Amino acid sequence: MRTTHKLDLLVNAAQFDTCGYSSPRQKDTNSPLKYIYRAALPEGGSVCLFKVLLTNVCVNDCAYCVNQCGRDIPRSTFQPDELAGTFMELHQRRLAQGLFLSSGIGVNPNQTMEAMIKTVQILRSRHEYKGYVHLKILPGAKFDCVEEACRVANRVSLNMEAPTAHHMVKLSHKKDLFNDIVERMRWVKQLMVKDNKLVPSGQTTQFVVGAADEDDRDILRTTDALYHEIGLRRAYFSAFQPVSRSRLEGHPPTPLIREHRLYQVDWLLRVYGFPLREVELALDETDNLPLKKDPKLLIAQRQPWLFPVDVNTAGRDDLLRVPGIGPVSTDRIIRTRRDSRIDSLTQMQKMGVVTKRAAKYIWFQGMLEYEKQLAFLPEAEEEANTVNSLAVVLL
Ligand code: SF4
Repeated sequence: MRTTHKLDLLVNAAQFDTCGYSSPRQKDTNSPLKYIYRAALPEGGSVCLFKVLLTNVCVNDCAYCVNQCGRDIPRSTFQPDELAGTFMELHQRRLAQGLFLSSGIGVNPNQTMEAMIKTVQILRSRHEYKGYVHLKILPGAKFDCVEEACRVANRVSLNMEAPTAHHMVKLSHKKDLFNDIVERMRWVKQLMVKDNKLVPSGQTTQFVVGAADEDDRDILRTTDALYHEIGLRRAYFSAFQPVSRSRLEGHPPTPLIREHRLYQVDWLLRVYGFPLREVELALDETDNLPLKKDPKLLIAQRQPWLFPVDVNTAGRDDLLRVPGIGPVSTDRIIRTRRDSRIDSLTQMQKMGVVTKRAAKYIWFQGMLEYEKQLAFLPEAEEEANTVNSLAVVLL
């Protein structure tokens, strides 16, 4: 198979691995840009990644996956030096700044992982490439492979896909959630503790949301446990879309807004530092996040005794609980009030506060009458079509 055909196939098959909120590739073009994903960085800006599979041959049968065994699709495999050379060409043309390398499981996880590691070793030694590499660790890979992956990559990830072993059984007859995945995540953590220079960008995971009929409480509990017990840097959520000619072909797709709600509450857990029990206040009677309501607003509504907070004296954690106030505006409020009192909504608006949302939950001495009235207006509720406002954009 010619390299361009192979690239088309293996770049296209890699799109289901999530590594951040990537802009779509320029698919319908002859430009090599169609092989590049743009992913946003936590500190702002973005990076162009070459996201590709080593092979789309796979012995596993994950029911949500385009590469599952038994599907009659074209299959192909890169040789390590061929893939390393292809990446370097894109890198030298300044099209790709980093590599995201994942794979199906060709014959067994160890053999495929060895080829993936070899690819990165060729980049590091022969091509003297020192840039970013995100390397997928395959479920069931042996310790030596996990260790070497941690030595050569900036970030590694193992995809959980399902939040519990009970749900994993619905998705795969071959993968054991605890032995093949969680155990390997623990190894990564142990290796990072032993040598703090390994895997500087940490380890991540991904859930396929809705494929196993799990609820959001299942996903949140597992995600929170991974943050605390494995030291996971972050979780990604990918709304399930049925794959033709697969066991889940007739399963309904997951609405993108569910993925968005999960990212919102993940942000509350990971960035705002909300405890899990507080985040769970946003769940409805079916243990899912309501699709039509902003979860932070719901959490505030369910704890009315916390409000209003006095913006001139409240602690950081109290300010962060106000709908319409985020970490950046909280820091601005704290900095501003060191020198002068905050005494108007206009002033807060200039600090980035969404006052329409926050007014009902805050108070300051001298709050004007019209501002008090504003506080009693019905709250603005986020509409269900705001997926594009997603602010969770880490690589
Ligand atoms: S192991 Fe990975 S590539 Fe293979 S079927 Fe499962 S998700 Fe797809």
